[in-house]
Amino acid sequence: MDLKTFIRDIDNFPKEGVVFKDITPLLANAQAMQYTLDKLLEMVGDVPIDKVVGMESRGFFFAPLLAQKLNAGFVPVRKPNKLPAAKTSQTYDLEYGTDTLEIHSDAILAGEKILVHDDVLATGGTAKATCDLIKRLGGEIVQCNFLIELDFLNGRHKLGDIPMRALLNY
Ligand code: IMP
Repeated sequence: MDLKTFIRDIDNFPKEGVVFKDITPLLANAQAMQYTLDKLLEMVGDVPIDKVVGMESRGFFFAPLLAQKLNAGFVPVRKPNKLPAAKTSQTYDLEYGTDTLEIHSDAILAGEKILVHDDVLATGGTAKATCDLIKRLGGEIVQCNFLIELDFLNGRHKLGDIPMRALLNY
């Protein structure tokens, strides 16, 4: 199945000059959704996973599905002031300014094997900050797993030696 036929480019979203990869046509197609989930699971392989961490908000589409298939728990990483209990925060640099992501401090136990999933790897800031949060809680990152990698933004470089795989490259 050619998954790229289910992903559309939206010009100038969310701001002028950005070409946004919209995966909602893929989500709306049962066969494409099932195929994507199977392929994302194949990328993980047979290694045991304790928790799947998904980033707000488009990471939430597939991360819980992956968690269920892997017999793992699901942990959300969220934008500031969304999580209700005691949390750990990580601030990271954007082109202009900074952003912050948060995780519940008790969501990951030291030594747990973690799969990170998001829909798109762009500059890598979101994934790097998420990995930093997981490491601060003592989790061991098995893989960062993406539906789409935007090669020209070189987010892979920001992840350093953290293992990463993407299903589709642009
Ligand atoms: P990064 O931090 O620059 O790597 O951006 C990745 C985050 O922004 C992910 O959480 C994505 O959901 C979102 N993102 C960036 N570009 C796109 C896009 O073209 N389509 C959908 N989401 C995107």
